[in-house]
Amino acid sequence: MLHIGCHLSISKGFEHIGKEASSINADTFQFFTRNPQGGKAKDLDMNDIKKYNTYAQENHFAKIVAHAPYTLNPCSDKPETREFAEMVFADDLKRMEYVPNNYYNFHPGSHVGQGSSVGVAIIIDMLNRLLMPEQTTMVLLETMSGKGSEVGSTFEELAEIIKGVKYQDKIGVCMDTCHVFAAGYDIVHDLDGVMNSFDKIIGLECLKAVHLNDSLMPYQSHKDRHAKIGEGLIGKEALIRFVNHPIIHELPIILETPNDLSGYAAEIKLMRDNS
Ligand code: FE
Ligand code: FE
Ligand code: ZN
Repeated sequence: MLHIGCHLSISKGFEHIGKEASSINADTFQFFTRNPQGGKAKDLDMNDIKKYNTYAQENHFAKIVAHAPYTLNPCSDKPETREFAEMVFADDLKRMEYVPNNYYNFHPGSHVGQGSSVGVAIIIDMLNRLLMPEQTTMVLLETMSGKGSEVGSTFEELAEIIKGVKYQDKIGVCMDTCHVFAAGYDIVHDLDGVMNSFDKIIGLECLKAVHLNDSLMPYQSHKDRHAKIGEGLIGKEALIRFVNHPIIHELPIILETPNDLSGYAAEIKLMRDNS
């Protein structure tokens, strides 16, 4: 069975989000750990967490994905911006241990003119201060579209980061279909080629989760605009083929398409019916 869900709001708590996921036939979901600006996260409600952990177990949820605020820039040229990102990450990772054994996904950031190798080195340093052997959370680097000076739009850059990380079992990759397509990986016409090059450069064992999105912007545009499944330039057929790839099929798949709950339910049904 496919493990699929969508991005949902955590504002009403974990038990609520779990039940909301079930209501649309999802067995995983993604949520933002806090507001996009990286403000203070809500205090954890231990009773709610306990109820969620039981609920997720009873309903055979796959691993869930926490998403770091996307405005953080861990490889900024400004020390205070880097320190702020690191502080938020550290706090998020501490909180994630209350919902153990899940994923924490983040955007590697923008090197803002320092050059990608400097950006990569800064990210590695941060990860090596943050990742602890005893943590149960795995941190995921999201594949990026490569707008501006974004780091992480090539498999080579992601491989470099992973190679530099001390605790290899704490780091993985989340592949965003919209982003890789816009970055210049042709998952429409050459899915096997893309997967083979991922395997050669990073290693498919590092691929842990998927963001399933269609793309409003063309192949190689380096622009990040998500579309509903079948309403973008990747298209329904290619996305169905994508989720049926033997490696992808085993991973938690998260829709980040512009949808309300009923729209997500329809896309989940579409993917389940075709896998
Ligand atoms: Fe993201
Ligand atoms: Fe994404
Ligand atoms: Zn995106």
